This record gives sequence, C-alpha cells and structure tokens, in this order.
Amino acid sequence: MTRIAFIGLGIMGGPMAANLVEAGHDVIGFNRSRAKVDALVDRGGRAAASVQEAVREADVVITMLPDSPDVERVVLGEDGVLAAARPGTLVVDASTIRPDVSVRIAEAARAKDVGALDAPVSGGEPAAIEGALSIMVGGESADVETARPVLEAVGSTVVHVGPAGSGQIVKAANQLIVAGTIQLVAEAIVFLEAHGVDAEQAVKVLAGGLAGNRILDRKSAGMLGREFTPGFRVDLHHKDLGIVTSAAREVGVAIPLGALAAQLMGALRAQGRGGLDHSALLLLVEQLSGRARS
Ligand code: NAD
Repeated sequence: MTRIAFIGLGIMGGPMAANLVEAGHDVIGFNRSRAKVDALVDRGGRAAASVQEAVREADVVITMLPDSPDVERVVLGEDGVLAAARPGTLVVDASTIRPDVSVRIAEAARAKDVGALDAPVSGGEPAAIEGALSIMVGGESADVETARPVLEAVGSTVVHVGPAGSGQIVKAANQLIVAGTIQLVAEAIVFLEAHGVDAEQAVKVLAGGLAGNRILDRKSAGMLGREFTPGFRVDLHHKDLGIVTSAAREVGVAIPLGALAAQLMGALRAQGRGGLDHSALLLLVEQLSGRARS
C-alpha cells in the first residue's frame, strides 16, 4: 500500500483516484471544488482541505490539472507540493503540459531531494474509468520503477520514454494524431450524409478496413447523433495543439496538417464552443459546407 496524495479530481483525476483506492492504496485527495473531494471520500478515499495537507504525509503525489500554469502554481507555488513534500517523495504529474515546464519541475524537485516524473495519459474518460490508460513516462529510471505499481493501477500500458519532459513530447504527438483523425472522421461523416448514404452503416464497414481507427470506434456514434458532451474539451485540445505547434517549431519540423487542425480547433473555441467535446470539430465542417443545423 502506498500513501498517495491526488490533486485535481476532474473528469480524469476523479476515476484515476478511485481506481487507486480500489487497488488498495491510501489516497488523500484535494480539488479546488469540494464536491469532487466528497465524491472520492464516497469511493473510500480521504479528504484534504489544502495541497499541503494532502502532500505532507504522502509517498507519491499525483497531479492531474488542466494546464501548465495550474501545475506550476500547485507544484512550485509558495503553498505548493514541493514546499510540503518530505525528501524522498515522488511527484508524478499526469496532466498534459508544456515539456519545458515538466523539465523545470524535475529540476526544482531534484533540488529538494524529491523525485519527479511527467506521466501524461491517453485513452480519455472511458480508459480512466476502466483503469486502462496509456501512460507515457518521462524521468529517471529508478523513479519510474518506484511509480510503476501505482501507474499500473490506473493504466494498462505504461512506457518509460526518456528523461524529464519526454512524456510530454510523446503526448504532444498523440494529440497531433488525435486532432487530425477527428477532423478526417468529421469530414467523412458530413460527406457521407450529404450523399444520402446511411452513415451509421458506412461507419461500421469503414471501421473494419484500413480506415479503421479508435476515433471511428469511440467517437463516431456521438458525432452521428450530434452529442458533444465532453469527454475531452475543445479548450484542452486547443491548449495541447499550442504545445504541439511550438514544440514542432522548436526543432524545425513541418506539421502542415497539424497546423491546420490547430487553426480549426482554435476557430471552434472562438465560436464559444470550447466546452464541447473535441469531436465537435464536425460542427465546423458542417458550417464550412453550408450545412449547419443550427
Ligand atoms: P478537468 O477540468 O475535468 O479536471 C481538472 C480538475 O483540476 C478540476 O476538478 C479542477 O477543479 C481541478 N483544479 C484546477 N486547478 C486546481 C488547483 N489549483 N488546485 C486543485 N484543483 C484544481 O480536466 P480533465 O479533463 O480531467 O484533464 C486534466 C488533464 O488531463 C489536462 O491536462 C488534460 O489535457 C489531460 N487529459 C485529459 C483527457 C480527457 O479525456 N479529459 C485525456 C487525457 C489527458
């Protein structure tokens, strides 16, 4: 049993923390809004009233927060994780943030004799609930091995991809592929419907051939039914595509389709649709095609 502080109990963090309780760990949770902490307590976890209270006794601290500034504030801030963590604690950031911020956190942690890993995840809310996330881990090998039993309670694929920040680079590649694939699936669905083909049947056969992919499997039903409850919010994918485009630029790699996907995601957000699931890219395709329903 590991004593785990879990900070950020949202769409992903909530079920991840519950799975850690289920696996027999002692989980103490903190979230900005108290209702999410109460939900963890209902699942057998414990409640903390502050970051420091959660972290003080912990062996492992997991953060699952929206964006880089949130993680910087919670981990590096005056009342933050590193200020409260005992030497020997391991801090695992599962959020998707800028790789340079992960590197800075690892350096600040090392100065306090605290271990740090960037361990962003893929698989979305269903995989978080099932404990079947794919986890890309950056950091030192010894820390990865310490964290492995904890990570394996929330993920089915846990891979050490390199030093601090590498997990975030792999996650950025993940988000590049996901955005581009959603856009193509959205275009295919609007195209099929415009031709009067039964799109539901079409999706079934497409999923069995070379065009088959997880977006088609998991997101097409929602897209066909125009059901865009998140899931993964457009706001968050917009953030991730900002990370992708600047990280590609840093190394001089051209990502023309990725850049286009980033523009489309930004446009959807600018239309006030940042709170929808990222599969709502379909609405933009309809609009561009003069086929918007509302
Ligand atoms: P979310 O907004 O549902 O959850 C974030 C939680 O953090 C919220 O409950 C919020 O109240 C809490 N929070 C924010 N600031 C805080 C603070 N200072 N102190 C304590 N709690 C604070 O977001 P999510 O969808 O769970 O995503 C979390 C991270 O995981 C993001 O970086 C996202 O990009 C990444 N991610 C999300 C998905 C997905 O499908 N939702 C999949 C993979 C990765």
